[in-house]
Amino acid sequence: MGVGVLQPWHLIVIVVIVLVIFGPGKLPMLGKAVGDSVRDFKKAVSNEPARAGEADASPASTRPCPSCHKSAALADRFCGACGARTDVAAV
Ligand SMILES: [Zn+2]
Repeated sequence: MGVGVLQPWHLIVIVVIVLVIFGPGKLPMLGKAVGDSVRDFKKAVSNEPARAGEADASPASTRPCPSCHKSAALADRFCGACGARTDVAAV
């Protein structure tokens, strides 16, 4: 056995230190936090469009451009994509 090899009692010491720092009651939360972090990381990597465009896709704050039919903000009088007026009724 060489010096510096991770031995079982090293793991026990680490577990004891973790228990002292976090307490046994917080271990499930710690595992949940790690799991959530991994899930968020995977979500970010896969680039899911779940919440992307949520703000400007809301029907309450946008309306379709009468010219190019892209959604434009209600506050804007002109379409950001084609420049047509959006405050006139679509024909
Ligand atoms: Zn337009």
